[in-house]
Amino acid sequence: MLIKSDPDEIQSFLTDASHMLEGHADEVVFPESAEEVAEILKTATSTQTPVTVSGAGTGTVGGRIPFAGIVLATDKLNQLKSIVHEDPGGRAVAEAGVILSSFQRFVESEGLLYPPDPTERSCFLGGTVATNASGARTFKYGPTRNYVQRLKIALATGDVIDLRRGEVHADTKGQIKIPLASGGFIEAQLPSYQMPATRKHASGYYVAPEMDALDLFIGSEGTLGVIVEIETALVPKPEGLLGGVVFFSSEEDLLGFVEEARSLSLHNRESGSSEAGRLGTLMEKAFEVTSRQKVSSHEDQDHINSSIDARALEYFDRESLNFLRQKYETVPLDALGAIFFEQETNASTEDSVMDSWLALMETHHALADDSWFATNQQDQAKLREFRHALPVLMNEWFARHRQRKVSTDMSVPDNAFAEMLRFYQSSLQTSGLKYTIFGHIGDNHVHVNILPRDDHEGAKAREIYLAFLKRAAAVGGTLSAEHGIGKLKRDYLRLFYSEESLRQMAVLKRAFDPAGILGRGNIFSEEYL
Ligand SMILES: Cc1cc2nc3c(=O)[nH]c(=O)nc-3n(C[C@H](O)[C@H](O)[C@H](O)COP(=O)(O)OP(=O)(O)OC[C@H]3O[C@@H](n4cnc5c(N)ncnc54)[C@H](O)[C@@H]3O)c2cc1C
Repeated sequence: MLIKSDPDEIQSFLTDASHMLEGHADEVVFPESAEEVAEILKTATSTQTPVTVSGAGTGTVGGRIPFAGIVLATDKLNQLKSIVHEDPGGRAVAEAGVILSSFQRFVESEGLLYPPDPTERSCFLGGTVATNASGARTFKYGPTRNYVQRLKIALATGDVIDLRRGEVHADTKGQIKIPLASGGFIEAQLPSYQMPATRKHASGYYVAPEMDALDLFIGSEGTLGVIVEIETALVPKPEGLLGGVVFFSSEEDLLGFVEEARSLSLHNRESGSSEAGRLGTLMEKAFEVTSRQKVSSHEDQDHINSSIDARALEYFDRESLNFLRQKYETVPLDALGAIFFEQETNASTEDSVMDSWLALMETHHALADDSWFATNQQDQAKLREFRHALPVLMNEWFARHRQRKVSTDMSVPDNAFAEMLRFYQSSLQTSGLKYTIFGHIGDNHVHVNILPRDDHEGAKAREIYLAFLKRAAAVGGTLSAEHGIGKLKRDYLRLFYSEESLRQMAVLKRAFDPAGILGRGNIFSEEYL
């Protein structure tokens, strides 16, 4: 097994996209099998050596940054093991260190789709499970959790468990009993808190009545075990895709457009996803009719409404567009905001879907002539690149100014979002600070990035962030909807969970990791251990 300890060689494992400073470790080990991982963990437990699990290091909250002990890198656990087709969809098995973009390409070459799609695709599959990653497509498909069917996990005790969804559940008192290959059990008590009523959540251990034991490990940020192998569910790959970046010169029009696209998508999905799919055939017939005889405007409106089924609805505020204009000169100068949307299509729906989005744009006075659309893969890649460019530019900015990152990841329940967005905007506009607001507006989840230019502004930015956090907690929101807590946000978790809940999380961790070696400092500080 490869082991590296030369400071120059291990430097890249001591940081991540959070740019937290001063990470340090004695060595980085690169196991190649579950048995090797288990052996490392068993030894570390007996010597009380902290172990930080490392994926690709694209995490934004310092989760893989070590502050003692060793780093366990998953880079060499990189086998794509199998794929099976089912009707519909399929399943795939891959090791934790497989790069997400390779996994997605492989799955798509088989005519299938793995929906979780965090914007940064260079992450590892294991990292996305450990953080319950989401992304733009989560609006339609939900987070990573929804697709994990089985996990092979090495525990700190040196045991390896193979957990399949549906096999082990908590009892009515919240006790989980996981059988071990050695014949014994691990017994753990779930914390007594409830999950917030948000569409996304990645803050602390997942808990639900009589939950599946598998769900405990998804989003546990390297604190309960090392995920070695993953079996995922796959869905059929859509035949076609319509993507667009729609610009608006009025914030009110933009929000009206989002509200309507969002509620139509949710409604059409709830009334049977097939409504939109089934409508493919119905629409085809309807539009044949349209070409022959004009249907009434009322019927037209119904057709438009029932065709909208966005899989992504992403927001860019004016400041985000100003940032992006550095790289994309064609961003219209009079745009005050934009929405990136995607909808899956097939040969029979592509025209009607396009017509429906154009009609929605017209209703809400979008800058139609300046907006961008993509129907082929090449153009879609360009739109994705536009979406990806913003967080990358932000991260570069933070690194350049050597300021602590002030970047939010909260989401709030449906009824609180409009007010929350107004609160973000009014607080920032009066602050004089540089900022951007962008992200997953379909899921009531936008990222606010405050860009302090010096320490004074840094302190002001953190004050404003604290006010945002308190407001999010007051309306029943979550601290992190997708990036996790890591080390950067753990102190804020107290605003969302009681002391007792944090202690219960620590007790749960101890059941799986008696010496407290794994992911030290992630989610809660070491004092709770
Ligand atoms: C530009 C940019 C855009 C992003 N956009 C999104 C987005 O849209 N949605 C989103 O969800 N995230 C996003 N992220 C965050 C990041 O990509 C995700 O959190 C990703 O899931 C992290 O994967 P990784 O392999 O890089 O993990 P790392 O950063 O290496 O680790 C993340 C955490 O998981 C733990 N971990 C890693 N592998 C394992 C394992 N095998 N077993 C146990 N624990 C493990 C680590 O200890 C750490 O706590 C973005 C990041 C960047 C830089």
